[in-house]
Amino acid sequence: MANLFYFPVPITIDFYYLRPLYYILAMSVQTGAAKADTNNNAGKIVMGGIRPTGFLHLGNYFGAIRNYIKLQNEFECYFMIADLHSLTTHPDTKELKSNVQRVLAEHLASGLDPDKAAIYCQSHIKETNELYLILNMLAYKGELEKTVTFKEKVRLQPDNANAGLLTYPVLQTADILLHRASYVPVGKDQEQHLEMARTFANRFNYRYGDIFPEPGAFNFNQKLVKVPSLDGTGKMSKSENQMATLYLSDDDDSIRKKVKKAKTDSGAQEAGAGKSEFIENLFLLMSLVSKDEVIQKYEQDFNNGTIRYGDMKEQLGNDMVSFIAPIRQKTIDILENKKYLQEVMEKGAEKARKSAAATMELVRESMGLNYF
Ligand code: AMP
Repeated sequence: MANLFYFPVPITIDFYYLRPLYYILAMSVQTGAAKADTNNNAGKIVMGGIRPTGFLHLGNYFGAIRNYIKLQNEFECYFMIADLHSLTTHPDTKELKSNVQRVLAEHLASGLDPDKAAIYCQSHIKETNELYLILNMLAYKGELEKTVTFKEKVRLQPDNANAGLLTYPVLQTADILLHRASYVPVGKDQEQHLEMARTFANRFNYRYGDIFPEPGAFNFNQKLVKVPSLDGTGKMSKSENQMATLYLSDDDDSIRKKVKKAKTDSGAQEAGAGKSEFIENLFLLMSLVSKDEVIQKYEQDFNNGTIRYGDMKEQLGNDMVSFIAPIRQKTIDILENKKYLQEVMEKGAEKARKSAAATMELVRESMGLNYF
């Protein structure tokens, strides 16, 4: 019988019977919220990923890319196009090539610098598969089935509730831990996945030795961002509610039309009334792209009960156009230079492979997978 109070747990222990206890111990290491601890930035590594399932939108930009751009100047950064993850929901690969190229171009057009950050494609790093497999032994069916995104995806595609969907957070954890990353710039929708990544990292460390830093969702100590859809139902997304999502590729006319159709309520409320969710959303979008004085003016109008939502949406439409149009144009230009895109991707993969190989050596050693 294993001694429960002996620490670390002896190798001969039967983990199956001790699993509940082990689970509690591993969970207790994971205290606090799933945010990254940003007290000490020295040597911290950053990792982020976006699926090439369609055109990038404002949510991708403000949830992830905006922070990528800031972080690339200060940290060792790995930014990945998650092509394998995209297969969980988009098994047809006909458009994958053009989507990957576009998403890469959109990253670059938004301001990512391949000389600073490694920008690469998930399937180019074979070590991902090995770590994913190992981490799968540390992830339990019950907890995976409870993941909100899994339940939601199964609801949306009941005929394709594949194992990749179930283990999506495990693959994501492998992507992060491969670079031993601590900071993961993501939007609010990824909060639970990052919590799971911490749990899996802690479990690995507890069982095999302390080699992974705790990864956490990162937004410079601010709340994680959720860019709402324009129709007031949920968030902007690549493939759902396209008319209520602003894409980085939208032309000026479409941007203005979409913003004009954004849900508001009937009109100005009495002075001092609270904002409804639709109006909160409109102000949130304005806070992302408009100048401070513009935001202040509309805040004041709202507080005085004199706001005209038509005017506000016209202003917001114009500010969105000013924000999106240069990225759209730059993307078109970059997409013409396929040789450049290929070079960026190869250079990124080379850097990411080096980091992944070093981590896997540590992993194998700490697990005792080296036999002679
Ligand atoms: P995905 O498009 O699901 O691959 O997500 C890529 C990144 O964009 C992740 O960091 C997400 O958290 C972020 N993201 C996607 N949609 C939104 C949104 N509407 N608001 C904020 N962040 C988002």
